[in-house]
Amino acid sequence: MSGTLRTIRDLAIDGRRTFIRVDFNVPIEHGQVTDKSRIEASLPTIRYALEHGARVVLASHCGRPKGKRKPEYSLEPVGAVLAELLRAEVLLTDDCISDAAGKIVADLREGQVALLENLRFHAGEEANDEGFARELAKLADVYVNDAFGAAHRAHASVSALPKLFRERGVGLLMEQEVSALERLRTANAHPYVAVLGGAKVSDKIGVLEALIDRVDVLLIGGAMANTFLAAQGRAMGKSLVETDKLPLARSVLQRAADRKVKLLLPVDLVVANSLDASSGQVLAVGDEIGADQMALDIGPKTVEAYRQAILPAKALFWNGPMGLFERKPFSEGTFGVAKAGAECPGFTVIGGGDSVAAVNQIGLAPQYKHVSTGGGASLEFLEGRPMPGIEAVRT
Ligand code: ADP
Ligand code: MG
Repeated sequence: MSGTLRTIRDLAIDGRRTFIRVDFNVPIEHGQVTDKSRIEASLPTIRYALEHGARVVLASHCGRPKGKRKPEYSLEPVGAVLAELLRAEVLLTDDCISDAAGKIVADLREGQVALLENLRFHAGEEANDEGFARELAKLADVYVNDAFGAAHRAHASVSALPKLFRERGVGLLMEQEVSALERLRTANAHPYVAVLGGAKVSDKIGVLEALIDRVDVLLIGGAMANTFLAAQGRAMGKSLVETDKLPLARSVLQRAADRKVKLLLPVDLVVANSLDASSGQVLAVGDEIGADQMALDIGPKTVEAYRQAILPAKALFWNGPMGLFERKPFSEGTFGVAKAGAECPGFTVIGGGDSVAAVNQIGLAPQYKHVSTGGGASLEFLEGRPMPGIEAVRT
């Protein structure tokens, strides 16, 4: 990690074709964008570019069309939302690299916006293909990466492409993400509390191991906690447990003990017989979970214990819901932790698509100091892994 990370404010964009790699990987159902937050998060950079006379060329991937042109992954609905938010015309190209796209971009006037069609319609994007990057490079004079959520993957638009520009840097969203997460990564604020949950231990091994060296308190919930409880020899019934990760869970427990990290596991759980049960039953962790029951949320005593651990935090990182929060009977754990984090006066950060969705659902996102737009990216950043999309823009 060397070189200077310039931001769009340091770049000469006036009158120039400015390629902005944004993260418009948003959920689309029946041709409608169902969550606009990533589009909204890109507005400050786009507005900055427009106000400074740039001819703006936006590019993003969306979904997994796997190198094929699939109409259901078209960015057309995204362009419509963006036009509405910017109150400006957004010219969607038929393809990200084509003669027609080149023409639209060449004709752009200052203050106008073009949106290239889904980058992943070309296999070259995920393959980090040089030739594909060179085609994209023809469309612009200046390169800006503002797609934090895509910065952890070495794909052409974030890795091979920026190296083809002398004038390159990051956007305002990326700048904010990097500074918030960098502050957390190098935090010397104690107590530093991390809350990890979600579906799988296996998704989060790296960050779990990195955090154990830094935090004072680690709170574990969600299905991830099931694996830890099973590792302590508890019968978990039909609960989601990763049996192949039991040794890993044991070694994490041991490392936490060695490093005097206070690692808390649920003391009670909300269990039910099926995922669509209309209510759950609270069981203390010492009680037997029936062979046909599954743990779907943390219980009220656990919520209270986690709340007491969260409130005094000087730094807080939360990733992963505490239970199956999408279903009402199993949402209290996640919402309880969300409220505690919102009340905590420390430097509070959430990352992770589902955790952020939960906090948005109850309107608490504005109470956090930073809400990351990158799930996997925020985890990799905190692990301290170099991110291809950041390294490639350094000059
Ligand atoms: P994030 O997107 O915040 O990183 P994950 O994707 O790791 O979080 O996990 C979120 C998913 O985990 C949610 O769909 C949630 O319903 C599910 N989940 C959490 N706890 C449980 C549990 N105890 N049993 C089943 N699913 C769970
Ligand atoms: Mg998720």
